[in-house]
Amino acid sequence: MQQIKKQNIRAILLISVFMSAVVFLSVIALYQIKSSTTEQVRENLQTLLLTIQEAHHILVEQRRFALESISENESVIKLTQDLIHDYQGDKPLVQSKYLTEFRQLLAPILENFGDQGFFIIAPDNISIASMRNSNLGTVNLIAQQNPELLARVFDKGEAVFIPPIRSDVPINNQKLQRISIDATMFIVSPIFDESLSVIAAIAIRINPMTYFSSVTTLGRVGETGETYAFDKSGTLLTESRFVEQLRKLSMLDYGENSIFNIQLKDPGGNLLKGFKPTLSYEQLPLTYMAQQATSGKSGVNTQGYRDYRGVNVIGAWIWDENFQFGVATEINTQEALQPYFKTRNTFIMVITITMILCLLMLKFLFRVQRQFQAKILQTNADLEVRVLKRTSDLEDAKEALSQVNQELAVLAITDGLTGLHNRRHFDNQFNLEWQRCLRDGKSIAIILFDIDYFKQYNDFYGHLMGDICLKNIGTLLMEANITKRPSDIIARYGGEEFIVMLSNTNHEYCQQAAQAICDNIRELGVPHERSESNNQNVVTVSVGYIVSNQLKGLRPNQLVARADKALYQAKSRGRNTVVEFFESDHANISNIHDRPSERK
Ligand code: GH3
Ligand code: MG
Ligand code: MG
Repeated sequence: MQQIKKQNIRAILLISVFMSAVVFLSVIALYQIKSSTTEQVRENLQTLLLTIQEAHHILVEQRRFALESISENESVIKLTQDLIHDYQGDKPLVQSKYLTEFRQLLAPILENFGDQGFFIIAPDNISIASMRNSNLGTVNLIAQQNPELLARVFDKGEAVFIPPIRSDVPINNQKLQRISIDATMFIVSPIFDESLSVIAAIAIRINPMTYFSSVTTLGRVGETGETYAFDKSGTLLTESRFVEQLRKLSMLDYGENSIFNIQLKDPGGNLLKGFKPTLSYEQLPLTYMAQQATSGKSGVNTQGYRDYRGVNVIGAWIWDENFQFGVATEINTQEALQPYFKTRNTFIMVITITMILCLLMLKFLFRVQRQFQAKILQTNADLEVRVLKRTSDLEDAKEALSQVNQELAVLAITDGLTGLHNRRHFDNQFNLEWQRCLRDGKSIAIILFDIDYFKQYNDFYGHLMGDICLKNIGTLLMEANITKRPSDIIARYGGEEFIVMLSNTNHEYCQQAAQAICDNIRELGVPHERSESNNQNVVTVSVGYIVSNQLKGLRPNQLVARADKALYQAKSRGRNTVVEFFESDHANISNIHDRPSERK
């Protein structure tokens, strides 16, 4: 059991170490994959961002160059001077014929570039020419919304790009006719006179949708990648890729454009997943990217941050100090790191399956072990039961055997017919007692008695009745209490002859015992029709006995022989009598073996 427990712990440890190694190596591999994926995304984003910025620069440079050549056109300079003259005069600008000429001169150029209009701006920032009369004589839109850039035109004589500003008029866009677009942007160039003084500025109104957003639209990579521009206040200057989402989120009205209407604010959670900001829209901070960019810092973030929809993105951004706007390229972290996430999910799946398999294996192993253990326990229990049963059987058998042995032992020393001790047992006991009495100087008495005329009994009553007679005499002798001491013994000596040994006894007691035997058997009154003994017609016995105090020099069978001699004499005296052995009396008596009726 202990061994099995140790094996189980070892198996669990081994699998734990294996799984830890797998997880550890997987984490390292995943970390490397994440690093390389992130690095790749960073490079891609930065390249994309620089490409877009470069494209934008080229576009602006091209338009600036084109505008500069227009502003250097002699007709333009002349018309500007005339217009300024009219503007400074009392005549309303609307009535100036130079305005009409200007419109006629520029109309084909604007049409050629797909531009929306123009301004001629006097040094006091008043629009002195435009496609629309309502602008005339008013403070120019650019001067109102981006005076610093316009000042560079007048003060430094630079041609500048004006990033999107709020338009005073919806631009008629062919594709999005129903959408009111209120953003506009300009290229502005100074108009010099002969003395190279800036006499006015010419501004071409460019449709941001075609010139600005179209460039940033190129930066829409994958499913979620987008590039957009924003101004110093964090306001979106180009069209968002997610206009539909923003409308669904009620951040934009239907028909409303994202340019100028979306501020790059961090809602604090993913709005697409139903996050509701606790702060009001005005109180929300700018997104991490917008905060960095509007403070003049270009950069890249691959850790992930929330964009203006609250979606976690990876992004790169750049702040263009010259043009005073920033451009950012962002992509959902989920998409950017898709290879990493896919690999991670595969790893997690593989590890989970491996773990489940390991656990199942362990479970199976433990179950097999438990079954095995249960089987062993069962077998042991069965074995124990069998051993107990076998032991109990053996005990029973032993008990029975000992019983049989005891019975056998009794049988071995018992005469089968009479139930008295048999001759062999008598001889053994007699020899033992002989030695003891010889040693102790004690007396031994032998009483020998024989049924009278038993041959005749058998002949007359039958052998079976003879047996019954022997049995009855045996029972009587056992009940007569002749042998009182443990060392005394009464036995069937052979045939119809019996013997008694009494140790440490005297003549008187022995004589009484011999007489009692003779009397008791006669008084038993077993009928014997053919008995001739002393006119008796019952079964009688003749008894001879001897009491010897001098065992020394004698042998046990000599004592029996002497008792037999006395018995012989009793027979001679007419039977049914008791005779003690005296040497003198038996001098003429023949040996026991010489008797006419032989004992068996
Ligand atoms: P006596 O008075 O001189 O002893 O004469 P007896 O007939 O008794 O003696 P005898 O030696 O002539 O005969 C002994 C008889 O005892 C012979 C035998 O048939 C009988 N006898 C001996 N043992 C048994 C026995 O076990 N059963 C029966 N039924 N008879 C036995
Ligand atoms: Mg006899
Ligand atoms: Mg006899």
